Order: sequence, then C-alpha cells, then structure tokens
Amino acid sequence: MRPVRSRALLARLPLALVLPALVLPAVLLPGSALAQTQVYERTSQPIDRAYTDRILEFTTEDFFLTPLVDHLPASDVVPTPLDVLGYISGTRDQLTHTEGIYRYMRAVADASPRITVKTIGTSEEGREILLVLASNEATLGNVEAHADLMRRLSDPRVTTEAEAARIISEVKPMYWATGAIHSGETGSPEMLMELVYRLAVDDGPFMSAIRDNLIVMITPVVEADGRDKQVDVHMAPRLNPEGPNPNRTLFWGQYVYHSNNRDGMQLNLALSRAITDTYLAYHPLVVHDLHESASYLYTSTGRGPYNAWIDPMVISEWNRLAHREVRDMGAFGVPGVYTHDFYDGWTPNYMFWVAHIHNSIGRFYETQASRDASDYILNTSVDREWHRPNTPLRQVVWSIRNNVNLQQSALLIALHEVATNREEYLRNYWIKSERSVAKARTEGPAGYVFPADDPRPGQQARTLQTLQRHGMEVHRTTAAVTVEDQTFPAGSYVVRMDQPYSRGADMLLDRQYYSPDDPRPYDDVGWTFGPLYNARTVRVEDPALLDGAMTLVDGEVQAPGGVTEADSGTTVAYVVRYNADNNLTAFRFAHRDLRIQAARSAFEIDGHRFGAGSFIVPVRGNGRDLGQVLDAAGRQYGFEAVAVAVLPQVTTHEVALPRIALMHTWLTTQNEGWLRLGLDEYGVPYDYVSIHEIRDTPNLLSRWDVILVGPSVNDPLQIVRGVQGSDPIPWQATEHTPNIGRQASSPDIRGGLELQGVMNLQRFVEGGGTLVTLTNSSHLPIHFGLAEGVSTRTSSDLWAPGGVFRVSRSDDGSPLAWGYDEELGVYFNQNQSPILTDGRARPGTRASAEPDGSTTDRRSGRGGIDERDVVQAQGRDWGQESVQAYRARMEAEGQSVTGGGGGGFGGGAPNADVRTVFRYAAEPTQLLISGGLVGASELTGAPALVDARLGQGHVIMFSFNPFWRGGTQGSYALVFNALLHHGNLNAGVPVAEDAEDR
Ligand SMILES: [Zn+2]
Repeated sequence: MRPVRSRALLARLPLALVLPALVLPAVLLPGSALAQTQVYERTSQPIDRAYTDRILEFTTEDFFLTPLVDHLPASDVVPTPLDVLGYISGTRDQLTHTEGIYRYMRAVADASPRITVKTIGTSEEGREILLVLASNEATLGNVEAHADLMRRLSDPRVTTEAEAARIISEVKPMYWATGAIHSGETGSPEMLMELVYRLAVDDGPFMSAIRDNLIVMITPVVEADGRDKQVDVHMAPRLNPEGPNPNRTLFWGQYVYHSNNRDGMQLNLALSRAITDTYLAYHPLVVHDLHESASYLYTSTGRGPYNAWIDPMVISEWNRLAHREVRDMGAFGVPGVYTHDFYDGWTPNYMFWVAHIHNSIGRFYETQASRDASDYILNTSVDREWHRPNTPLRQVVWSIRNNVNLQQSALLIALHEVATNREEYLRNYWIKSERSVAKARTEGPAGYVFPADDPRPGQQARTLQTLQRHGMEVHRTTAAVTVEDQTFPAGSYVVRMDQPYSRGADMLLDRQYYSPDDPRPYDDVGWTFGPLYNARTVRVEDPALLDGAMTLVDGEVQAPGGVTEADSGTTVAYVVRYNADNNLTAFRFAHRDLRIQAARSAFEIDGHRFGAGSFIVPVRGNGRDLGQVLDAAGRQYGFEAVAVAVLPQVTTHEVALPRIALMHTWLTTQNEGWLRLGLDEYGVPYDYVSIHEIRDTPNLLSRWDVILVGPSVNDPLQIVRGVQGSDPIPWQATEHTPNIGRQASSPDIRGGLELQGVMNLQRFVEGGGTLVTLTNSSHLPIHFGLAEGVSTRTSSDLWAPGGVFRVSRSDDGSPLAWGYDEELGVYFNQNQSPILTDGRARPGTRASAEPDGSTTDRRSGRGGIDERDVVQAQGRDWGQESVQAYRARMEAEGQSVTGGGGGGFGGGAPNADVRTVFRYAAEPTQLLISGGLVGASELTGAPALVDARLGQGHVIMFSFNPFWRGGTQGSYALVFNALLHHGNLNAGVPVAEDAEDR
C-alpha cells in the first residue's frame, strides 16, 4: 500500500497546504498497515518545517518515504544537521567530511542528555574514529554499569543462571550501527547524523521504546581516512569546475581499499582493532554494518553455506530481523526490499563478524548507492525470485535522500524489534554463550595445542597474539600433557574450547571445506591460521586435555629470547638459529649497524644444530657491548643468541640491508597494500615508487637493489599502457583535495611502464638487481622475456577459490627457502594466482583416471576433505550410543577405513637459470589444506615459487600470494629471504656458487 500523497500533487500545492498534510496521523490512511500498527504512531511534537521541506525536495518518489523519516520533529535545544552544516542529511550534491560529521555529533551531545560521544581509535593517518551513544538519560548516565552487566552475561563461567536471569531483566543492551567502512558507499554517515538527532529529540512512543530499552551505539565513519579522500574526490568538480580533478579514489586507508572489510580475522588495520576493542568493552547484542551495493535495500541473511562454527541459532536471528524489516518496509509501500541472496555467510573475515566471533549477531545492509550524491537514472532488471517477490522498478530517478530514507527506516525497524523483544534476544545471547563454554565437552574439539617445541616460537607467538586481540584466552601448560597418544611438553600453549569465545577460536584454527556443489562463494573459502602463520597447531578432541596442568597467560604471549651461554671472556661470536620467524628480519633492519653473516649451509657447534641461513654475529667489528645488544634484541624480538668460543666452520655471506623499491601501477591498490602493511609491521624500509618513476630512471641499480611488485592486474600489457584518458588525472593534495596524495602523489597518473620501463627493469636485473613479483604481476617478467624458461599456463578445469594450499620445497639450497620446513601452507586463489611452468615434468603428474584430489563428495563444513564434519551446539556423537547398541543387537560389522597412498616426487633435468624453490604438493589429496578444489591435478607439482637468473641478477616470481590480507604471516619470510640475501641468491647451487654478482 502506497501513501496517498503524490509528488506531482505536492509540487502544485502551496506550502501552507502541503506541510500540515505531512503530519496527518497514520490512522487517516484507512486499510494501511500503519493504521493497524500502533508502534508506528508518530510523535505529536511540532515538526521542523524547513528540514522536512528539504526531505521532500530531495526524495524522488513518495514510495521512497516512510512515516519514520518523512518529517523531522522540531527542537529548540538540539541542532539539526541543517543548523550545524547548512544542509540536511541526504542533500543533493552534498557529502560531509569527517570533520563536519564529528562536529555535528558533538553539537548534539552538547545539547542533549540522551547523546554522548567517545573516541574509540585513531586511523593510520591520524584521524579519530568516533562512537556515539544514544539512550534515555538515566541509562546513558549508567552506560558503564550496563556494559559490565553484558560482560558478565557473556561469561557463563562466572555468572550463574539466576544471576543471568536477573541481568536479562535489568540490562539495557547495545545495538551498534557502523557506517562508511567502504568509502565509495557514501550515504550512511549522512543518515547516521539524522538518526542521532531523531534519537535525541523524537518523543513519540516508537522512538521512546528504542531509547528505553537499548543503548544505540553509532560509529558514523569506520574508515575515516577513506571517507575524507572520497569526499574530496566527489566534491572537487563542484568546487573547482575548471579542473583538473581526480576522477577516481585510488586509496582509501593507508594500506587497503575495499578489503578493509576483510580484516576481521587478522585484525591488522587500526579500524579493525578499534572495532574489536570497542566490542569487547560493550558486548553489543548486534553489530550492523551499512553498505551500498544492491537495489534498493538488501538486508543480510545470506544463502549459505553458512559458517560451520557459529551456533545455528544465529541463523534464525538473522532471518527474524531481516524478515521483520522486509515485512514492515513492504507495509510502508517501499519497493525493492529483500533478503536471502547476495552473500553466503561462510567466511568470517568481514568486520561485522566481530559479533559472531563473540556470540552476538552480525548483520549488514546493502542500500542502493549514493555515489557522489547527485541524482541519477537507475535502470534495474531483476527477475522476481522466491526471496525477492517485491522487485525494484525497471527505471527510477535515484537520490542520496532515497538512500538515507531507506536505510534509516529499516534500521529503526530493527532497533525497535530488538528493543521490544529485548529479553528474548538477551536470552539467546546467554544460551549461545553457555553453549560456547560447553563446546569443549559437547561437540568439541576440547582445544588446540601450540606445542612448546615448535621450531618457530616467533610465529607461534604472533598467531596467539592475534587470538588474544580477539579477547580469546590462551593457557600455558606447567607440566607435560599426554593426550590422544601425543605428549606436549611443559610450556605448550592451549586454546581451550571451554571459554566464551571458543567458536571464534575454532573458526580461525580449524580446517575448512567448501563443496563445489554449493553456490559460488562470495569470498575466500579457506583461511586456517596454523599453516598460514607457519605455526604448529594440534586439534585435540579428547576432553582429557582440559585436565592438564595449565595456567592462563596474563598479558601478551611473547616468544622467549636473549643471550644464552654468555661468556664474555672467550666469546668470538653469537649464533642465532634462522627459522623464518618474521621478527628476525625486523631485528636485522632495526640494527643496521650490526655486521651479521649468514651461514650458507647447516652446521653444528657445541652440540647445537643450526640450519642454513642462521645468523653469525662476530664480536670482532661489532663493538664491545654486542652481548648486551643481542640480549636486549633477543628479548624484544624473541630469539636466542648462543655465545660460541669458536667461529663455526661454514661458508657465509653478509646479511644484506638492501635499498628497496616497491613499484605501484596507478591502476589498483586493492591487493598490493597488504604487502606494504607486512613490510611496515616488521620495519622493512622501502621507497614507494610508481611505474612512471621506473620508466624514467635508466639506471635503477644506482638507486635500488631490490624492486618489489605487489599483486596488480592479470594483463601485463595493461601495466605497460597504464591509465588512459584524454585529460590529465591528478592525484595530489590541492586546496580542493587536501586529503589525497599522501601514499603517492602525481599531477597526472596517466601512462604506463612503457617498453622503456621494461628495458630499465631488464638492465636492472642483468646488472645484478633482484626483481620480485607477486601473483598476477609475475606475468610481467614472463611476458617480456625477463624470465626465460618460465611460462604461465591456463586451466579451465581447475576450480580453486581463495584457500590454503600445500607447497613442498623442491630446492634444498636456495636462500629463499632458508628457515622453512619441507612443507608450507600458502594462500592460492585462481583468480589472481598464475599457474607457472618451468619446462620440467611436474612431479606426481598422473593419468587422469586416478583420483585427482577433487573434493566433490561431501558438503561444506569443518575439517578437510578426509575429516568428519561437526554441527555446532550438538553434543559429541549424539545418537551414536543408540546406533552402537542397535548395531550390536543386529551383529552388524563396522565400516572399513580407506586411506591415501604414497606418491612419487620426481625431479626434472637441472637447469642452471631457473630454480623452482617450492612446488604445489605433488599428491592431489595433499594439495588442499582448507577451502575447495576441483581439478587438483591441474595444479599438483606446478611451480609455486620460481627464481630465474638473468645476467647477474634474479627474477623471483610467486604464483601464490605471500602477503594476503595480513594473514599469510608464515610466507612473509620467503620475500624477506629475497631481501636479506639479494646479492647471494645463487647460494646452494654448487656450479654457480661463485659466479655471484654483488
Ligand atoms: Zn560495501
């Protein structure tokens, strides 16, 4: 049912007639849902006529209005956005920088006892991340007490049923709405300003119910750096019509673009940490993220396969909230509001999954895009589907005000739903928390063990630190624990599953399986932390683990370190075992003044065995206080330096401090930013240079030793051609665009690397430089003949969405593999990772009639292809007891167990110029660790990391992505090894050992 007013009619009526019409109570629309539903009865307050008039002006159709937003109540005390900014939320051609948004929020907080404002974080570029709290005056004065009640409700280990019942009846829980994590999706911060005003001012029964039952948390801008850049780009043509103006937003945050919403597991970005810390401070029942990429409003439930680790109750809660919004928006006569489709609900890497990781409800909207806030004709062709009976219209004029109306109305419906069913949602939360603690003994596992004898204590600590950042508890054993035929030494870490956030920990540490029979996945399908961080994890099902002697780790897990066996009288050197811990690279770059040698092969000294690449730090030439320096550094970076009285008898070379360039293309910063983030985390210095600088620098070797190229585009010719256009496209700070040009700057980003740049790179490598290309950028050296003997292959039979795959070392001597074991888990995604060939037979290649490791015979769920799925919140082996009894009665036989066979791993003919350092696992059933896979034999045995010699230098090409979203910490050191040994990459090749260069 549509409202009776029409825009055409309104336009013809004199203002005096129009405005009273707007405040007609809903009951004057006989037969409408409004008449039947008292909850939408509006306030009897006077309306703000100037503001309301503009709402109507900027709304393009009556059916994009609802009774919740078609007017604004007036206040003598609280300012509207119009009062503070000079325009209303959703004004045509008008977007607001963070400064204006925050100024407005603070103005409301100053004027209203129902609103307060807090800073919850600082972005990488130094901008504030804001939290606005809204509730009734009494509750707002007591926010910390309510937060404390929610904290107690979150932990059934310290709260009894009776206390929980009391908390549920008393507490005013939080509902957190978050805006503008995606800077190109511009409407939500504008909307949230108006929402805060309504929460402060509207005294009608609908809004009072929200205020009296909830604390509404609002973060108007999650990605503060990106918001200001995006507003600069959109507003510049209006402020500076003559131009030139930027026509795209190449950077949002310091590091990443759209995938800032894929950091919810690893928590490397300032925004993710601010959100997680704030979640843990308040335990909001709902985290609701506001996006813009569907017509006209999508409210999330997803179509599955759903994440296998969350409590199934959450799915019902998603549906309940979404169907309430779809129903009520439909009752208001708004077309095009739907749920179900759009995303799968599988991967926990989105920001709002902070809720699911901690037993709350995470959800999101996708509203029709506001873009640059101008009106536009929106053509949509969406067929009616069972989940979308109310389709968007074929054609309509869209405006940012429509966007503000729809997301604000639906959000108010959701707030009201939770407010009026507060105790029910709280009870669900309590049940989910209880079952998370029970999980260790019901469906399991009992826990994950990080053994004390892991050869990489630094990687182990880094993994556990991430879990701790999520608020998960880590215990440490005080005595050896034997369980399931394994003995874990004292000092092992245990992530117990009898803690409130066990589901989150299980989700990050378990293996994932995504069936190709399921709908196309929305994002990555596998992410297991252990292999990707190169840290050993053992999944233990036996609850006996929980009885082991262990204590809670107080504070951040740290790898042990310092000088051992110090004897300043006779010490000639200190030896540091090189184990591919990233912190060893951090130590090297932080101590530039130290002379450090790398052992070119494994050696033994004083009964200790040290692998190739181990650091030998001689006393001579390194100063008298070397022992103290190394002791302090060892404690800081988590490594042991062993004092020795005799220099090890082993060939060495100097561990380098290369001059590094990181080349970007001006085409995309989506994936390469994670490389910068990884380098910055470990203090690796680099110059961030564009393809234009490479093109224009004939002697690259005079400036850099190593040139890194992060992931870019699949077509190398696109890098050579660059951005095209008839007019200059600037990306630099100006009077009208003060927020851009920080990461990189140019008066004109057009133009590419050109053949000149390719030739400069060739000369650079031939002269002794090292060129490192990640994933699809590896097409560049291959296509232009800088890597003779290496080519790429396409496969239409491979199905391998982003997941964790196993690679095996295939060159024992290469410095690139120093510190690594024989096998490693890496991130591969067929959409960005080329399949490389090196002209050699692939080990393990077999006739296609044999099983090829394709994973088509089970449903999506936990565990690998060969493991048992587990449904959450079911007891361990429910039903099995009676099945066994039945079997015994029927004298039936048990099932036999099938197992995999061995597989050959043959080598090819030696080739002095191409070293394949890692290959994908040769055995098809071994290739996939987590994710989904069809056509495994297309990838088995294929080169994964190749080092091709050219002249005096090297081109190092990665097929997989060693720097993916800050979560592939275990493969960082493959790139770090290239840096530390850039002039010595021929080590380990006897014939070439001394044909080395620089
Ligand atoms: Zn988005």
